[in-house]
Amino acid sequence: MKKITLLLFFIVHLSYANDMIWSKTGHRAIGEVAQEHLTKKAKRAIEKLLDGESLAEVANFADEIKADRKYREFSAWHYVNYPADAKYGDQKPSENGDLITGIKKCIAIVKDDNSSKEDKSFYLKMLIHLIGDLHQPMHVGRLEDKGGNDIQLQWFDNGSNLHRVWDSNMIKEYGMSYTELAASFPKLSRKQEKAIQKGTVLDWVEESQEIANKVYESVEVGEKLRYRYSYLWWGTLEKQLQKGGLRLAKVLNELF
Ligand SMILES: [Zn+2]
Repeated sequence: MKKITLLLFFIVHLSYANDMIWSKTGHRAIGEVAQEHLTKKAKRAIEKLLDGESLAEVANFADEIKADRKYREFSAWHYVNYPADAKYGDQKPSENGDLITGIKKCIAIVKDDNSSKEDKSFYLKMLIHLIGDLHQPMHVGRLEDKGGNDIQLQWFDNGSNLHRVWDSNMIKEYGMSYTELAASFPKLSRKQEKAIQKGTVLDWVEESQEIANKVYESVEVGEKLRYRYSYLWWGTLEKQLQKGGLRLAKVLNELF
């Protein structure tokens, strides 16, 4: 009996962990957009630290290490939950860290001349992923439903939840590779790109929270979502991926 309970615990735990993933394609598309917006100097420095791998190639590193207990301390960095009507700054910071403290730590370590190459590389990969997570609105959702993970829905004929719809269901349904996806984003002028890159990490988190509040209102618990939902929300999701890429480039260009 004990064994079964333990097994169940792991299955539930694993499936929750798996649900906290902006799909691989989404993270890679963000990496691809960022890659195209790096300065020469940043590109060179990053190539060295990543041993020639691209931003898209390492964009899922932070999710891949989740299964390894050694890296458990980083699992709370993928999201930040606080009440819908509150500001992040008014909250008591989580003891385990969160998306914002995680990003700050990554930046500090990559910036520090005394950090080893190994550390710089590790935290750079984490940073590339976390800036992506920041733009998935349900990663800035509410604590009581674990960022929408507890809001059960149907995605076509399959069980899903609000977090997963935004992490992966819509992107998978769209059916593009990450390079196709990145190439399909609206063409922007330099001025429009600059406007998107304005602001701080905290500003971007607050923007995601505002979107999350609308996303919460977009469904009824147990609802069956189909094409219509993607039709209504794809534009928002696409914009978030594109913003994620442009802002990741901004953060990296400033860092190197
Ligand atoms: Zn993540």
